[in-house]
Amino acid sequence: MLLGKLREAVLEANLELVRRGLVISTFGNASGVARDEGLIVIKPSGVHYEQMKPEHLVVTDLFGKVVEGTLRPSSDLPTHAALYRAFPTIGGVAHTHSEYATAWAQARQPIPCFGTTHADSFHGPIPLTEAMSDEEISGDYEANTGAAIIRAFGKIDPLAVPAVLVANHGPFAWGADPAKAAENAWMLEAVARVAYFTVNINPHAGSIGKTLHDRHFLRKHGLTAYYGQARKKE
Ligand SMILES: [Zn+2]
Repeated sequence: MLLGKLREAVLEANLELVRRGLVISTFGNASGVARDEGLIVIKPSGVHYEQMKPEHLVVTDLFGKVVEGTLRPSSDLPTHAALYRAFPTIGGVAHTHSEYATAWAQARQPIPCFGTTHADSFHGPIPLTEAMSDEEISGDYEANTGAAIIRAFGKIDPLAVPAVLVANHGPFAWGADPAKAAENAWMLEAVARVAYFTVNINPHAGSIGKTLHDRHFLRKHGLTAYYGQARKKE
């Protein structure tokens, strides 16, 4: 069986989305990529989480062609694959219909950065994709969803803002590995929830200032990060 460790990490990320309450019904999927092999490991379609085992996961190439597995991959695979091809620094993708992030996606509003909870994980507002055209929806829908996300990012570094809202649909998050993708999906939901309360309390609430935003993001990420315990040299 190919990629045993990555299969376990992807299974764990899928279960983490459920444990965090981010998955409604079966609307959730996580995947990981083995860059050296050029292979994706993704959740199978329609298998109950309680019964899911590493061997049920499906291995495909970066274009979604199944390389190993007897079950059908998650139908969102072409979106995951498009993200792996466009964003070479990411190692895991998580998609959910978590409630507050989905509410912002349905309201077609990017999530402004109102405070340091947001700034700790996302170095900028959470972008919103443009609504897809009828042709894009009737055509290769899941791949076109990926293309819409990639267009929404433009020059934004996907590891600095590791999440997006797909208009009228819901969030995708990602990270350096599947665990980080699941964690970012959870952080996104927390940020979306607090932002919802913020605009309810004050519809004119302003975004966090750049200095405070940079301070919070950069103390956790990047070359000058100092938050948490010192990292061991490897
Ligand atoms: Zn979905």
